[in-house]
Amino acid sequence: MIPYGRQDISEKDIEAVCEVLRSDFLTQGPKTSEFEATLCEYTGAKHALVMNSATSALHAACLALDVGPGDLVWTSPVTFVASANCALYSGANVDFVDIDPNTYNMCPLKLELKLKNAKSSGAKLPKVLIPVHLAGQSCEMDKISALSKEYGFKIIEDASHAIGGKYKDSPIGNCQFSDITIFSFHPVKIITTAEGGAALTNNPVLNEKLSLLRTHGITRNESLMKNKSHGPWYYEQIDLGFNYRMTDLQAALGISQMNRLDEFIQKRHEVAHSYFKNLEGLPLILPYQHRDSHSAYHLFIIKLKSELKRNHKEIFISLRQNGIGVNLHYMPVYLQPYYASIGFKSGLCPEAEEYYSSAISIPMFSALSSEDQKTVCDTIAKVVEGY
Ligand SMILES: *Cc1c(COP(=O)(O)O)cnc(C)c1O
Repeated sequence: MIPYGRQDISEKDIEAVCEVLRSDFLTQGPKTSEFEATLCEYTGAKHALVMNSATSALHAACLALDVGPGDLVWTSPVTFVASANCALYSGANVDFVDIDPNTYNMCPLKLELKLKNAKSSGAKLPKVLIPVHLAGQSCEMDKISALSKEYGFKIIEDASHAIGGKYKDSPIGNCQFSDITIFSFHPVKIITTAEGGAALTNNPVLNEKLSLLRTHGITRNESLMKNKSHGPWYYEQIDLGFNYRMTDLQAALGISQMNRLDEFIQKRHEVAHSYFKNLEGLPLILPYQHRDSHSAYHLFIIKLKSELKRNHKEIFISLRQNGIGVNLHYMPVYLQPYYASIGFKSGLCPEAEEYYSSAISIPMFSALSSEDQKTVCDTIAKVVEGY
């Protein structure tokens, strides 16, 4: 089976991790700071903090923006559950803004309408919005950012799919249009640290809060302490934080992978190029690329044209039976039984539900060989032509 995604680990990557095992620091040492500096340099963000997962980073980001009970967070329905769960961890409520049928990202027009309706009916407005750059393509951040100024919400970009991508020719992660940006380094993502994530920001106060939340709320910085230091051993817990640290083993892998990021993106674009060329003419909708976006191509999502939609499940199964490890990213989050149990009902986001009835993620990763790319395209053509 050709998988839909796979990590790309070199001998150099392995050596980088082994070197840390022979050093003095196994967790949060010099490699962690070096990885953070590398992320800042690559994206242009002023601050970066790496954590043990993107899920942890999303949780810490919500708390750093003072999300709590009584608050509302809005996100996209077509995302991994963590983009919404982080609001619930913080005690807030969550709601969903339907997607744009072309990009599959949160639709800025529907966002504007939902904000207008909430305001005019006196309903609660979101404190934080979490747009998700699905498949590595940036949301329309200029429009979303303009709405944030008009309606007074903060923005956390869930860029778990998007490190290495660009928006309006600038790196995703620079936080030009957001308060905080989150990356994931899970093995199926663009670069990996096995488990891991990062929170980037240009705001030093938010960075300080995120840093405290990462390490139990503990500080050794005297200027932040409530009392006078008792001595050189002294530290203070001034907030309720967590252990969300990344290890230096992981950070070393992250640094080594960052050296290969541009090459990974280049290869993913080559795969995409071959798919666009070889899948053209089939009854499929290929992923629309917005002119402001240079995708990181975490995923390559095809949709079946309307005449094939009723065969979605059979086509999906047939592709797997023929050795193509297709997947589906994602069922709308609010259709998950947990979300149904807290009151969400189907019909909330019609475009997201239409998407779910026809989308298929096909194999996309940097080490996908040309032969395998050809097998993927030939198999899709063969399977689709049977309907
Ligand atoms: C993978 C993913 C996450 C969670 O990442 P982890 O590092 O596994 O916690 C969050 N949001 C999106 C959109 C993701 O794809």
